[in-house]
Amino acid sequence: MPITSKYARSTPLKLCLRRWPLQAVFAPDGAQGGARITVADMNYTGEVVPGGPAQERELDDVTITKFSVGAMDNNVYLLSCRHTGRRLLIDAASNAERISEVLGDGELDYVVTTHRHHDHIGATEAVVTRTGATGIAHADDADHIPAVSRRVHNGDTIECGRFRVELIHLVGHTPGSIAVLYRDPTGSAHLFTGDSLFPGGVGKTRTDEDFESLINDVEQRIFDVLDDDTWVYPGHGNDTTLGQQRDQLPQWRERRW
Ligand SMILES: [Zn+2]
Ligand SMILES: [Zn+2]
Repeated sequence: MPITSKYARSTPLKLCLRRWPLQAVFAPDGAQGGARITVADMNYTGEVVPGGPAQERELDDVTITKFSVGAMDNNVYLLSCRHTGRRLLIDAASNAERISEVLGDGELDYVVTTHRHHDHIGATEAVVTRTGATGIAHADDADHIPAVSRRVHNGDTIECGRFRVELIHLVGHTPGSIAVLYRDPTGSAHLFTGDSLFPGGVGKTRTDEDFESLINDVEQRIFDVLDDDTWVYPGHGNDTTLGQQRDQLPQWRERRW
């Protein structure tokens, strides 16, 4: 399936920001058979559709694979050490069969869950059980996520082969949401934000207090400390960079979402 399929995205931005995870936007995966597993990294755009091919990009030390699963168009990310083959998956959201297909034969070391919402944890138990990976989540969401054997906090790191990621705690979308940061020693940073930061705003919050917390954490722990060329990989939809979003922070604060 080419990436310009009928699922090609014309999602209103507000929908992504305000409705996750309340409303299904896309048709469920019709994924069985047919779809190629990956497309080449040469033209990585980050645009994937449920049931469609994965996209891959190769950094010096890490290969990043992005694909979408489920009725909520959840992004799943696989980070693979190019030297050792050790691998870390971010959000086994749903469709364990599709995730297994993309994983192929190699081992999986970690499943990191960005937050407790049901659309991000549908295949966590199955993937952890099948692969023997270590399930990782923030301590404040871990009780609501299956198969967590390591609870983490802000600033904790995960070593995977020869690469390392840092975990950034962002309170507001849920109490225990985390972003996963990979600092490429020879390039820009890569930040996997779950539902805490999208192109056009922070994730959905239920109360003004939660919004205040999330916008403060996103500003202080992301925008204040990471460069404009930091690539942002959200839990749903298309990628962006911090540079593309930075100017909008005052507007987000003013509108309160
Ligand atoms: Zn979500
Ligand atoms: Zn969510």
